[in-house]
Formats: sequence, C-alpha cells, structure tokens
Amino acid sequence: MDLGIAGRWALVCAASKGLGLGCAQALASEGANVTIVARGEQALQAAAAQLRALPGAGQVRAVAADIATAEGRAAALAACPQVDILVNNAGGPPPGDFRTWQREDWLRALDANMLAPIALIQASVDAMAARGFGRIVNITSSAVKAPIDILGLSNGARSGLTGFVAGLARSGIAARNVTINNLLPGQFYTDRLRGNFAAVAEREGSSEQDVAARKQAQIPAARFGTPAEFGTACAFLCGAQAGYITGQNLLIDGGAYPGTF
Ligand code: NAP
Repeated sequence: MDLGIAGRWALVCAASKGLGLGCAQALASEGANVTIVARGEQALQAAAAQLRALPGAGQVRAVAADIATAEGRAAALAACPQVDILVNNAGGPPPGDFRTWQREDWLRALDANMLAPIALIQASVDAMAARGFGRIVNITSSAVKAPIDILGLSNGARSGLTGFVAGLARSGIAARNVTINNLLPGQFYTDRLRGNFAAVAEREGSSEQDVAARKQAQIPAARFGTPAEFGTACAFLCGAQAGYITGQNLLIDGGAYPGTF
C-alpha cells in the first residue's frame, strides 16, 4: 500500500533510537523527507545514516537538540522547511513515589511529555490547515489507559496531553485534513524498557533476562513489540488514506490491556 506521503516533510522527535527511530524508518521508507531530533550526537548521526540508506528514502536531516526546551524546538523547526507530519516523542519521566516528588520533578515531566508536544503542535498546526494536509502523532503510553503506579509522572503528564489534543483534534482543523492521534505503546524492547528491567532486577536481586522473561509471559502475544511494527502503525496514521481517523488513542500492546474497549 502506497501511503501517499512521498515528498512530505516529517519532523520526528526523540528519534535516534527506539520507537521514534522506528517511526522515522517507516516514514522514510515511504519516501517522506525526515528531520530527526535527539540530544546525543553520536546515536543521532548513526540513525541518520541508517535512514539515508533505506531504499526510496527522501532527504534526511538530523538535529542534536533537547526537544523539551524552547531552543531545542526552535532548532528542530528551523531544520524542517515545513512540517506536514509531526511525530511528538521524548524520553519518559523516571519512576518513583509521588510523596518524594517536588514541583521541579513535575515541571520536568510536564515540559517533556505534555508542553513540548503542545508547543510543536502550536508551531505547525495552522500552516498544516492552510495547506490542507497535516498528520500529528503523539507517542504516549499504555499508562494513559491503564495507569502504572510507580509511573505517576508519566500517568499525569501524558493524560494532560491526551485531554488537550482530544479537544483540538475535533476543532476546525479536522475539516482541513489535519489529524491528531496518539499511539500508546505497551512493552517494546527498547533501551528504555531494558533500563526499567535492569532497575527491577537490581532491586530484587535477579537478572534483566529473568525480569524480561516474566514480563513477556504476561503478554497475550507472548513477546515484546518491535520498533518496526510500532513505526508501521505510525506511518499508516500519517498516510493520505488515514484522513478520517482523528482524536484516537491506539493501544499497541500485544493484547496486554485486559478490557473489552
Ligand atoms: P528509548 O529507546 O530510550 O529512546 C528514546 C529516544 O528519545 C532516544 O533517541 C533519545 O535520545 C531521545 N530523547 C529522549 N529525550 C529527549 C529529549 N528531551 N529531546 C530529544 N530527544 C530525546 O525510548 P523508547 O522506548 O523508544 O520510548 C519512547 C517514548 O515512549 C518514551 O517517552 C517512553 O517512556 C514511551 N514508552 C515506551 C514504552 C516501551 O515499551 N518502550 C512503553 C510505554 C511508553 P537522546 O537520549 O540522545 O536524546
């Protein structure tokens, strides 16, 4: 299926690794021009080289910047001639006990996982509407649907973003072929997940492999997701054919969420 986005410009945030890179790969494979952003230069340049090597890839630009800051976002936007497709992503907040969190902890989580995406949407959505095409995908978390107790910062900040975009997606932009959807990852075997498992293993005196095997056994699909399959879903939502899908929250979790809806 040709997604009809060859030559479109995509800004993919937090994309030197993991789910962001999976999205950038899927978009580049469709011939979209891709600007990727991450803080660490080395992994970023390696990711850009991988993207350029994909068959059919368009232009690839790489911006070393912190997307949670105004300067970082300005640098990212300056590198992208126009934003037809925006994939919002950033590192997730750390786990912990809310009794120990200070205002600064909350502000960091809100900056990265709620206010940065909203600022990038604010910077690009009206131009998308004026051109009659725009696709915005926010990478959030399964924690929006089924909160995870130790990830209170994530539960809170991402739910704030979800509530905000639910309203915006249904405003006048929908009639201008601009969609906003959220992708909710369950467990994907990325650095982030490996880091979480290593922390659990250290706490309980087991190994990362033991923790991973136990977690995997609880997923109906009996495996973790891959960034490539996550990216494919993202690219579909960014495609020309997905214009009637907006304001949705798509959980990609191998069946882990136990509810009917
Ligand atoms: P990952 O493998 O650790 O990759 C994170 C990527 O984001 C890296 O490229 C990192 O590069 C970049 N990044 C982080 N903070 C950034 C910032 N402030 N500005 C620019 N780039 C930044 O993580 P992942 O597993 O793909 O997770 C992506 C998001 O999905 C996170 O918010 C995570 O909490 C959420 N999530 C993941 C899972 C999962 O199973 N993997 C499940 C639920 C939710 P630099 O560090 O060099 O900047």
